[in-house]
Amino acid sequence: MTIGRKILLAAAKSEFLARQASNRYFARRAVKKFMPGEAPEDALDAGAILSREGRGTVFTKLGENLTRLEEAEAVRDHYLGMFDQIRERGIPGHISVKPTQLGLDLSRDACAEHLRALAGKAQSTGLLLWIDMEDSSYVDRTLQLYTELKPEYPSTGICIQAYLKRTPADLERLLPLKPIIRIVKGAYAEPPHIAFPAKRDTDFAFFDLSVRMLEAAATGDCLPVFGTHDIPMLERIAKRASEIGVADGKYEIHMLYGIRDADQRRLRTEGRVVRTLISYGSSWYKWYMRRLAERPANVWFVVRSMLPG
Ligand SMILES: Cc1cc2nc3c(=O)[nH]c(=O)nc-3n(C[C@H](O)[C@H](O)[C@H](O)COP(=O)(O)OP(=O)(O)OC[C@H]3O[C@@H](n4cnc5c(N)ncnc54)[C@H](O)[C@@H]3O)c2cc1C
Repeated sequence: MTIGRKILLAAAKSEFLARQASNRYFARRAVKKFMPGEAPEDALDAGAILSREGRGTVFTKLGENLTRLEEAEAVRDHYLGMFDQIRERGIPGHISVKPTQLGLDLSRDACAEHLRALAGKAQSTGLLLWIDMEDSSYVDRTLQLYTELKPEYPSTGICIQAYLKRTPADLERLLPLKPIIRIVKGAYAEPPHIAFPAKRDTDFAFFDLSVRMLEAAATGDCLPVFGTHDIPMLERIAKRASEIGVADGKYEIHMLYGIRDADQRRLRTEGRVVRTLISYGSSWYKWYMRRLAERPANVWFVVRSMLPG
């Protein structure tokens, strides 16, 4: 892991910096690169525009590690309403949640109950609920929650992280559930005994795990979703998919709003299923710092937004 990435991920944990950034005009302006706006309506409007181009959406409200159970209830209620709005507006949208945003730090049972409510709503509205993967201390609990949820609510997906050394074994344990899986490289600062410190090892793992998911897709045992902006990687995966006999419509590509937009459009035009993950909400600081850490060159966007004009 580079020093720049380490510093940015450490800064992501600072509550003091979070308060400072949220009050600064330049920071709010810089964050616009990655989100259409803080209000849910901003996200829905952007999703509606993308849907006209044939792109799907995944919506997520920013915020994690809540400190009061009432906040988790409010988040659950917010998402229940969001499912209705997505449906009413006819947007091909999913919702993605973080377990700590539903109170996992405070009560596992409450978090499980909220997830069940959201998974039930996803099912009844014909949409899909995604569960994000947070740092490594949450992986066991998150996988367990998914394992309990999936048999009852098939329209539920889980994220796995290629940088974790444990993930190949986790994937094998998930496959009997016929899972919906979004594989990503991983966005948190993790120690080397848990996660690959070298990016190229994460890239190798990402490809190997993707192939395993495609093999499972070939027998109808997995819906693979590749959550990456790594275009050469996506090309290798597409090539392998056609070798294995997995058609374009049998897997999806998900990317973040504001990143590699031209590629997202091109992939859609070429016939791939593409979804854009749109974040909204005012608690963007930690999430935004992880975006900067992914590409420290992005820090220049922040510096540029501090300049007048
Ligand atoms: C849909 C989706 C859901 C995600 N969910 C989770 C999750 O639940 N848990 C989790 O830990 N992580 C999640 N992530 C983040 C993920 O782990 C990576 O940190 C992130 O996707 C960057 O890695 P990459 O795969 O794009 O590849 P990289 O090899 O890091 O990047 C490939 C190329 O993409 C472009 N790029 C990548 N990131 C940026 C950026 N921030 N700004 C500008 N350009 C960029 C650059 O051109 C770069 O060269 C998610 C990512 C996506 C796309």
